[in-house]
Amino acid sequence: MKLDILAFGAHPDDVELGCAGTILKEVSLGKKVGIVDLTRGELGTRGSAEIRDEEAAAAAKILGVSARENLGMRDGFFVNDEKHQIEIIKMIRKYQPEIVLCNAIDDRHIDHGKGSKLVSDACFLSGLMKIETELDGEQQSAWRPKLVYHYIQWKNIEPDFVVDITGFTDKKIEAILAYRSQFYDPNSTEPESPITSKNFFESLNYRSRDLGRLVGLDYAEGFTVERCLAVNSLGDLR
Ligand SMILES: [Zn+2]
Repeated sequence: MKLDILAFGAHPDDVELGCAGTILKEVSLGKKVGIVDLTRGELGTRGSAEIRDEEAAAAAKILGVSARENLGMRDGFFVNDEKHQIEIIKMIRKYQPEIVLCNAIDDRHIDHGKGSKLVSDACFLSGLMKIETELDGEQQSAWRPKLVYHYIQWKNIEPDFVVDITGFTDKKIEAILAYRSQFYDPNSTEPESPITSKNFFESLNYRSRDLGRLVGLDYAEGFTVERCLAVNSLGDLR
């Protein structure tokens, strides 16, 4: 199944927190989008891998994505090496996306920066014909996504561009709340962590309000790029 956009996240919920609004918008425009989670988030303070699997499936339904896979890498300990790059390359060649979205280039959780570089490196390597991969007994063809964009999650990284997500914020929050075990819940008896605070939950809204404010929109999500952006004409920018 060929997809237009493939979004990678180190943990189930990274994609929702970083770019759910953009995914909802692209799906509404008729684009085919998929998600690949690198780990099952088994080291998360609250919940368990099994609970996260169910939550990720529920969130995928809300987002309207065409596919969601989990590579089962080790939460906290996966590395950017040949073995892990090949696993990502197989996903890129399987879905042949034009655009790849991946974790923030630097973040509080060490897996985010690691996952960001791992996916970015694999996007380059996936285009090299002499790297041979097989999936379900079939030889895969080389494929390099045209664009790799990094979403923003915990740290306030200055974006290179923003996407107008006005009209998609309620559904974005709904997708994030599908991870019932993970976020602010005054009735939870599980331990607190930085992401279970009320402030963090409210920051999801106020960050997109603030990014929107800076460019005259109601709500926006920001991304960084690895190479300079190109447009067909000056009028393409708003
Ligand atoms: Zn994460």
